[in-house]
Amino acid sequence: MTAKIIDGKQTAADMRVELKAEVAKLKIKNIVPGLAVILVGEDPASKSYVTAKERACEEIGIFSDDNHLPADTSEADLLALVEKRNNDPKINGILVQLPLPKHIDESKVLLAIKPEKDVDGFHPINIGKMVAGEKAFLPCTPNGIIQLLKRSGVKTEGAEVVVIGRSNIVGKPIANMLIQKKDTGNATVTVCHTRTKNLADHVKHADIIIAAAGRPNTVTADMVKPGAVVIDVGVNRVEDSTKKRGYRLVGDVDFEAVKEKASLITPVPGGVGPMTITMLLYNTVESAKQAAGLI
Ligand code: NAP
Repeated sequence: MTAKIIDGKQTAADMRVELKAEVAKLKIKNIVPGLAVILVGEDPASKSYVTAKERACEEIGIFSDDNHLPADTSEADLLALVEKRNNDPKINGILVQLPLPKHIDESKVLLAIKPEKDVDGFHPINIGKMVAGEKAFLPCTPNGIIQLLKRSGVKTEGAEVVVIGRSNIVGKPIANMLIQKKDTGNATVTVCHTRTKNLADHVKHADIIIAAAGRPNTVTADMVKPGAVVIDVGVNRVEDSTKKRGYRLVGDVDFEAVKEKASLITPVPGGVGPMTITMLLYNTVESAKQAAGLI
């Protein structure tokens, strides 16, 4: 069996067309969703993420309020900016790009964002609501995975899911979303990490594998049940002298071998990655609708 590829680029493009149409409808009611993007410092990876987010906003008609601050910005100044955006009615979402410079307490800054503008879904109030199964802003990467599964027709109800990784931004939230008592949940979830005794034993039983370890070849073909659905969240650089930049990006899954056993698989790049920013746009539009009392 050769797996069908879950095309994250296409799914993200489809969702952005839907969002653009929704933003156009809101505009008729004089509502323009606004996203404040706050970047502190010059980290090249963070800069390129932020630029991609700002471009994506423009593309679908979201107002993007770009705040690029120097690396020596004080915690107090950053908190003051967050508070200003909290109180600005033109702003529906606030995104503080992580990681922040060492002299700034990240959790303090995330806690300062109003939960109703926390479009990254990192505020403890939104995390708590997600766990309780209440309406909340869901974190973007795991929510993107849920969308990919849903739009690829993968039924999660009753499925055995193995999540590899327990970070706060991927592993824990995706495990949580998949056990919720709803159509996109109802799965039986096992969460594995570096202290898991025999990873392969767990993965072998999975109908759906979600790999978010940040290590190439964490999932090899011998670990995969024939017909399993494989979602590869990992983004890893491996040296490649044939590439101009000297490296290429790979996921956590041995893609070439595993695609011969799986029924559906996400590539890296072009799988989960393109969904993350799209879900941020989605949350911003939802926030604007909530602020206007439309939902
Ligand atoms: P992280 O905070 O480093 O967490 C990695 C998790 O994987 C940890 O829980 C770790 O276990 C576990 N792990 C590592 N090696 C393992 C192994 N050999 N066996 C079992 N478990 C193992 O990483 P993250 O932020 O969740 O990100 C994970 C990957 O996804 C990274 O490659 C990252 O770049 C990528 N990512 C992609 C997107 C996207 O939009 N495409 C978004 C976010 C992240 P311990 O807890 O025991 O250390």
